Amino acid sequence: MELYSGHINKLIEELAALPGIGGKSAQRLAFYLINMPQDKVNRLASSILEAKANVRYCRECYTLTDQEICPVCANQNRNHRLIMVVENTRDMAAYEKTGKYEGVYHVLHGAISPMLGIGPGDIKLKELVNRLEGDVEEVIIATNSSLEGETTAMYISKLIKPVGIKVTRIASGVPVGGDLEYIDEVTLLRALEGRVEL
Ligand code: ZN
Repeated sequence: MELYSGHINKLIEELAALPGIGGKSAQRLAFYLINMPQDKVNRLASSILEAKANVRYCRECYTLTDQEICPVCANQNRNHRLIMVVENTRDMAAYEKTGKYEGVYHVLHGAISPMLGIGPGDIKLKELVNRLEGDVEEVIIATNSSLEGETTAMYISKLIKPVGIKVTRIASGVPVGGDLEYIDEVTLLRALEGRVEL
């Protein structure tokens, strides 16, 4: 016998498929949602649909944005010759929160992982190489210090160095395997200031 109605089971299943949400949390959320006032449910549902319909990649740095060009790339006071390569939009947000970085970004949307079958063609690397045809002074590689992040950093440095552009890597001190978004601002700034040339 099914414990819950088919609709509740379906909802639990969809929620459980989200990252970081286990079966128990999915059940709790499903019942919470069912008991929410109708107007709140409508707002939540439409915010998901609107975000999905309107968020896109920035034409220059590939971060997720509502506009064709994100606010960072559109800002003429930023140093457009300094590009920091990050794995995702959340890492970019972590550096932006420090308020001290004056360059622009390039968002890869992932990292190379032979184990998971993610190759260079699966992340925004070609797009990075295309950007280097412009006026670029330095590329700062700020991928995570996980195995995937280091693999990606090495790959990028081999790709860019022959072009003759300065390539640097943020200093370690960022905990191994640590997601950049969870690291405090002081540590991030120290990692940025202590970057070393590859
Ligand atoms: Zn951008």
